[in-house]
Amino acid sequence: MIKVEHLVKKYGNNYALGDVSFEIGEGEIVGLLGPNGAGKSTTMNILTGYLSATSGEASVGGVSILDNPLEAKRLIGYLPEQPPVYPDMTVDEYLNFVYDLKRCELNREAHLNEIRGVVKLQDVRDRLIRNLSKGYRQRVGIAQALIGDPKVIIFDEPTVGLDPKQILEVRNLVRSLGGKHTVILSTHILAEVQAVCERIVVIDHGKIIANEKTDELARVMEENAHYRYNICGPRSEVLTALRGVRGVLYAECAGERDGEAYTYLLELSGGTEPRKAVFRVCAERGWQIIGAADAGGDLESIFIKLIDRANAPKTNAGNRARRAEGKR
Ligand code: ADP
Repeated sequence: MIKVEHLVKKYGNNYALGDVSFEIGEGEIVGLLGPNGAGKSTTMNILTGYLSATSGEASVGGVSILDNPLEAKRLIGYLPEQPPVYPDMTVDEYLNFVYDLKRCELNREAHLNEIRGVVKLQDVRDRLIRNLSKGYRQRVGIAQALIGDPKVIIFDEPTVGLDPKQILEVRNLVRSLGGKHTVILSTHILAEVQAVCERIVVIDHGKIIANEKTDELARVMEENAHYRYNICGPRSEVLTALRGVRGVLYAECAGERDGEAYTYLLELSGGTEPRKAVFRVCAERGWQIIGAADAGGDLESIFIKLIDRANAPKTNAGNRARRAEGKR
């Protein structure tokens, strides 16, 4: 449904996008994830026809956005980071205004009624937009994107500035649009793509560094997990034994705890096997594990890991693999 091929955008001598390619299938919900300045808005602005590309190609439903922007735009509903609402209009006035602007040909009352139902705006139809909460204003923004029943809907940072309850509502709403619509959600929040998207495209410094199913992201989280253990036993013997365990890529002692145990930081290869092996080795020697905690599996650290993985020279990965191999 969406195809981006070798997209490049230059500002002067700087590349906002350097050779970006990805595809999104019909009905998919895909997250475009990256830190500030990564190139998300540039990608969205090219996809929505607001910005031209220096080179490359982008199409929606087989229609080239760069060659036929008007036709392509008809297939897209867009919610920019700042919802394009008019504060002096009532909700209904605004929705009718957008309906006219888009030259929508669907039955006006039935179509707007359906949208008001989907985004839950029935109770505020006659309220001035300026008097709505940020959450409701965002719903009005989503409603305008849905007018005309576009095949593709693009959301730019749709939950920024909302409170936790409103965030959940917007995420549920976005999720419910999948299947019927193809959805792209741009965000710098990993938890958001995890909660909403089936696939994530990670962009950094204008380059795609990962394009994976959300489940695959979970696998990356499992890969090389970091744990903190508190183990009772003679420090250097424990450390030597831990370093000899299959699947332990790295181990160091990080200090004493409670006078009877030491804290060890471990990097383990994927899955649960290494954890079981650490437990077995300690049990066999009579060293009690009095604490164990995940020390790096949070989403932000995964993101950093993905960026590191993309930036690391291949030889580093090779060295690490050899280092792990040497411990077996
Ligand atoms: P994101 O949306 O991921 O925060 P952007 O797409 O806005 O990132 O920006 C990507 C890069 O392009 C940044 O380095 C930004 O400074 C640069 N950039 C964006 N717009 C312009 C512009 N109009 N002129 C010059 N540089 C720009």
